[in-house]
Amino acid sequence: MNTGFYTNPIFLEHDTGSHPENANRLRAITDRLESEGMLEKLKLQSGRPATIQELKMVHSEKLISDVEAASESGARNLHTPDCVISPQTYNAALHAVGSVIEGAVEVAERRFDNAFCAVRPPGHHAENDYAMGFCFFNNIALAAEFLCSEMGFKRVLIFDFDVHHGNGTQHLFEERDEVYFVSMHQDPRTCYPGTGYADERGKGAGAGYTLNVPVMAGTGDEEYLQIFYDQVQPKMEEYKPDFILVSAGFDAHRDDPLASLNLTEHAYMVLTSELKKLAEKFAEGRIISMLEGGYDLNALSSSVREHLNILQSED
Ligand SMILES: [Zn+2]
Repeated sequence: MNTGFYTNPIFLEHDTGSHPENANRLRAITDRLESEGMLEKLKLQSGRPATIQELKMVHSEKLISDVEAASESGARNLHTPDCVISPQTYNAALHAVGSVIEGAVEVAERRFDNAFCAVRPPGHHAENDYAMGFCFFNNIALAAEFLCSEMGFKRVLIFDFDVHHGNGTQHLFEERDEVYFVSMHQDPRTCYPGTGYADERGKGAGAGYTLNVPVMAGTGDEEYLQIFYDQVQPKMEEYKPDFILVSAGFDAHRDDPLASLNLTEHAYMVLTSELKKLAEKFAEGRIISMLEGGYDLNALSSSVREHLNILQSED
């Protein structure tokens, strides 16, 4: 497969110090892909910054100016102590959004069969009006919105397998039916951000277009995949997506320090392979995946390698 791989040195300049969401995460990924000969199988892309007009598709002007002003002023965090900010954060966040939009367009136009964006800061917790959970702008929501409003896609599926609920993504689309948000995450009673209960299913025109599948702390590969096959895959098949976007956080791994699920690389291989089959069946193979969480460097980099290995393989 012709798989795009988007990354850029600007992402390393979002300097969060000793915070778990730090630049070493991307270094670990690219180092492993390079040393294991995977990088050369991918189409390396440097992306581009988003425009302000693009950000306004889902974010308030206030959030955009808050991120810019906090970066420029030398503030240490924005809106919440866990959103650590540095002078290059605004530029890195713009570039993360622009890269996922560019990747989505390239996949839509079939320049690439699929793509993975190794970007930071991550995005799925960012709301319309505020930063939270290490996220400033909602990368995946902006890519999905661009596909709907600029490219005419009508049945966009977002699958979020990060261990944390993608609250921002859910809230941005929960009243609309052109984006189906599906999230598997650790039980919100035991995990940040405390949302994503099974009874959150969308509102108004979006009723039925949000699917939350919380799983108990301690869940391992076998049980997790059984839940996926029983409760998630049939719903996604029924939806017949014309484009699949993936919030790929690898923090449900058993070695991850921030949460309590017990997945291994095997679960990520199976999920990726099932998403790829679903895309081939309904969406001419169109998948764009983007990095969210994953904080154990070894678990993260080996999980990303397996994810990419499936995306770029011919079968
Ligand atoms: Zn996470």
